[in-house]
Amino acid sequence: MMQTSNKELILRLCEQRTLTKQEWVSLLTGFTDEDRAFAAETARGISRNHFGNRVFIRGIIEFSNYCKNDCLYCGIRRSNPNAQRYRLTDDEILECCAEGYEIGYRTFVLQSGEDLTYTAERIAALVRRIKASFPDCAVTLSLGEKEYEEYAMMREAGADRYLLRHETANAAHYAKLHPEKMSYAHRMKCLEDLKSLGFQTGAGMMIGAPFQTAEHLAEDMLFLRSFEPHMIGMGPFLPHKDTPFAAEPKGSYEMTLFLLSLCRIMLPNVLLPATTALGTIRPQGREQGILAGANVIMPNLSPTAVRKKYMLYDNKICTEDRSADCRFCLQQRMKSIGYEISVTRGDYQDEENRDLR
Ligand code: SAH
Repeated sequence: MMQTSNKELILRLCEQRTLTKQEWVSLLTGFTDEDRAFAAETARGISRNHFGNRVFIRGIIEFSNYCKNDCLYCGIRRSNPNAQRYRLTDDEILECCAEGYEIGYRTFVLQSGEDLTYTAERIAALVRRIKASFPDCAVTLSLGEKEYEEYAMMREAGADRYLLRHETANAAHYAKLHPEKMSYAHRMKCLEDLKSLGFQTGAGMMIGAPFQTAEHLAEDMLFLRSFEPHMIGMGPFLPHKDTPFAAEPKGSYEMTLFLLSLCRIMLPNVLLPATTALGTIRPQGREQGILAGANVIMPNLSPTAVRKKYMLYDNKICTEDRSADCRFCLQQRMKSIGYEISVTRGDYQDEENRDLR
């Protein structure tokens, strides 16, 4: 029997929005630059259709790098004694929002390690303050795994979105990337809880994480297909010198771009960032991510003084810059590829009530 070509598989994904696991494995193991270009062109067409030439921006405030967890890949894991720990006060976080608002941000992403000094009550109060000061803004949280009641309290306070990458959809692979205390089952429960509470929910994985195989990536794509997240955070794995994975190779830039395109084709209206990790692995990585079908950029809105301390991986970009620098640098970068920054909240829109304003 004749083997299906990669181009045919990409077209099938376009029409049926799904592939079998075997087809995914085949596509992800044997693709050429030409296949990648075809996928990117197809994905870019879909993005243009849904979002025009506009890219949504989210200001990310990395408010604490204390973490109770010990993820093997992450530079702010608890057992990294070289991480200089910091926490922002609620007032400092509010100040970042105010600065961001001035330069056009209408989504604030609050991200941190799993720092228990920020209880659900405190986060809820903080979200209320942000919402009261900036009622036209969306608040996204990315604080890791919490219990249902805690997520509920944050949602109640007005948080709109939550990012929690699933990291890998294979339980055995999950166990190789995380300490024994963490479990794949709990991660999945968190994602279900978030969705059921009405958060616009983001999942995602690192590309080229240690021990990752094409089968794992195929399982990730099948998981994303069935979970239908509103957002997908996906960037290359990059080693951090003070982690057990210090000597592991980086993820593949090309594979990351290819998967961004395939996510766009599979889930046409998903909010898909060209990540900071993608901009770190290549100087033009984020531009290429947008041209491969991504439609979101998340520039840093943290105080410059702490940026270098939120090092998830080595050589992270933009750690010397001020927020306004990042904002305008991005504007120029987007302009250089024919895109504009949208200063709207940029909520997820399902197919029925899509708004092309
Ligand atoms: N504590 C929060 C935020 C984690 S940092 C949480 O658990 O969700 C956000 C994401 O950065 C992680 O989900 C992970 O996928 C990514 N990340 C961490 N270390 C990384 C590395 N070394 N290379 C690339 N991405 C990394």
